[in-house]
Amino acid sequence: MGDEAVLRRLEAWRKQDRRLYERVAHTNDKLAGRRREVYRVLAAQLCHAYGAIVVEDMAIPRVTRPGPAEAPTDQQADLARRQARVAAPGLFRSVLATTAKREGVRFISAPAAGTTRMHNACGTHLDQSGARSITMWCPVCEVSFDQDENAAKNLLGTLASATAAT
Ligand SMILES: [Zn+2]
Repeated sequence: MGDEAVLRRLEAWRKQDRRLYERVAHTNDKLAGRRREVYRVLAAQLCHAYGAIVVEDMAIPRVTRPGPAEAPTDQQADLARRQARVAAPGLFRSVLATTAKREGVRFISAPAAGTTRMHNACGTHLDQSGARSITMWCPVCEVSFDQDENAAKNLLGTLASATAAT
């Protein structure tokens, strides 16, 4: 194959690669726009339904950032991080805050520290990592409980306290 033929094939490949790249970029833009629209509608529905919103102030990048390169591969954690990036919880929180402000709905960003580990039923601070299991055990109440549901109840307590204080 001569130089001209090689150049023609390379040019054809470059044009095709550019078309594919632009198609992917366009699709990504459309999906991001749809996600934002879904979040706007959901935020409006939540503000209308509840009249007050409380969220954790946790740093979202901590959830979506890949683990250290030297750490052993954890496929479930990698999948969770990828799904978190697609879901863009930071974007949803931002849209929710903006919508609440616009609608005159109380919006509280509460400290995330301890919401999972403090058992809502008794106030005991549990000294166990919740990273490996959804459920936690309270030795005082002698019950296991869903740590996310527990965190949500603690956040509602924060909201109730903030509301009572005003
Ligand atoms: Zn307890």
